[in-house]
Amino acid sequence: MIEYNPKSIEAEAFIHDGEIQESLKFAEKNRNNRTLIESIIDKAREGKGLSHREALLLLDCELEDLNEKIFKLAAEIKEKNYGRRIVMFAPLYLSNYCVNGCVYCPYHCKNKTIRRHKLTQEEIRREVIALQDMGHKRLALEAGEHPTMNPIEYILESINTIYSIKHKNGAIRRVNVNIAATTVENYRKLKDAGIGTYILFQETYHKPTYETLHPTGPKSDYKYHTEAMDRAMEGGIDDVGIGVLFGLNLYRYDFTGLLMHAEHLEAAKGVGPHTISVPRIRPADDVNTEDFSNSISDEIFTKIVAVLRIAVPYTGIIVSTRESPEVRAKVLKVGVSQISGGSKTSVGGYAEEEKPEDNSAQFELDDHRTLDEVVNWLLSNGYIPSFCTACYREGRTGDRFMRLVKTGQIANICQPNALMTLKEYLEDYASADTQKIGEQVIADEVKNIKSDKVREIAKKYLAELHDGKRDFRF
Ligand code: SF4
Ligand code: SF4
Repeated sequence: MIEYNPKSIEAEAFIHDGEIQESLKFAEKNRNNRTLIESIIDKAREGKGLSHREALLLLDCELEDLNEKIFKLAAEIKEKNYGRRIVMFAPLYLSNYCVNGCVYCPYHCKNKTIRRHKLTQEEIRREVIALQDMGHKRLALEAGEHPTMNPIEYILESINTIYSIKHKNGAIRRVNVNIAATTVENYRKLKDAGIGTYILFQETYHKPTYETLHPTGPKSDYKYHTEAMDRAMEGGIDDVGIGVLFGLNLYRYDFTGLLMHAEHLEAAKGVGPHTISVPRIRPADDVNTEDFSNSISDEIFTKIVAVLRIAVPYTGIIVSTRESPEVRAKVLKVGVSQISGGSKTSVGGYAEEEKPEDNSAQFELDDHRTLDEVVNWLLSNGYIPSFCTACYREGRTGDRFMRLVKTGQIANICQPNALMTLKEYLEDYASADTQKIGEQVIADEVKNIKSDKVREIAKKYLAELHDGKRDFRF
């Protein structure tokens, strides 16, 4: 019999079904246990995180006044660790050819109605120029799994193309990659190609559900998929991003699995996940969301984000344009630190608007605003949109990055970097209204840089950015 062991590299030992079941029972039994919940909230206040069991109890808590405390604490932890900075990114879909049979995704191999497309290097160039012209600096590459259409060589060549494109003042400075679980050797190649974060969603941690939802293709191997991050780290990738697709399985189970995965990476590899994504299932071609009876409400979704923020205070939380502006506003308050803007989920949708009959999108969006509209909205709501990519370019990754975050030192770097990259955006891409609001935010926020020395250097760089220089960073 397999025992629970967060340090083990065996999927079923670190995502241990028995431990999850026990945690679910523990939370169910104690969801009205005021003393216990209060003690966990007090522990969380220290800002050092919580175990999966403690976090699940907060998620399950039914006591109204304590729930208010939980949301308040999440907002405080977010403010302390991230200030009001929100990192911006965009997905770039390279190819929707896929050999897998994931029943919740329109790219599944049996879907005959979707238009299949794979970008050529020239098409990638056009997409990247369009993304640069919007103001993006950070991309998340997406591709289906296909050994002949999308082999690792194609992904590597595409990364190389993306980094090489310099158009006006534009540049993509960080390419995160979301491709299928692969070998240590391939992860090493991705590392050598200069990727930022390797992202892979587990979809669901519940093995029987996982196997039902992935009936065919290499992704049907639960063990290989669940152990992917261990191989990625073995291949030298320091920053990994995990996530589940909420709606596929019971959310309490997957929430617990997600935190156990984070605990495993910390215990076995010495560094937890760089980011956690919280996508919810969305309507898509040849996918019937009514088949997924585990969909979660906006209220539960917001609580999941708040408790994640408390449980893993140093991990970035990402929300995409799958969510509506209203929901994005709610989760930004209680924990989300990275959002996409102006996204297209079709293959080749940035350079040219896709015709409705040419559907190649992975899912429907619920936030259709342009990047400038999103930036304007963030600024108007007191946030600082940041296009910063400094850490990975300065070699601040993995445990080195986590040390800076845990000691709070990162804030001294993030704040000036956010303001300088925002300034670049305002100079090169913003509408007149966004520029006006943004300049005021920069003028106000530069005063909040704590170190006199850093503040003076930042002011100098901001003036030089206005004069046409680019790409300063701390
Ligand atoms: Fe392919 Fe990924 Fe879609 Fe599954 S989720 S069908 S692996 S693109
Ligand atoms: Fe992220 Fe580092 Fe930039 Fe802060 S300084 S926003 S942690 S890349």
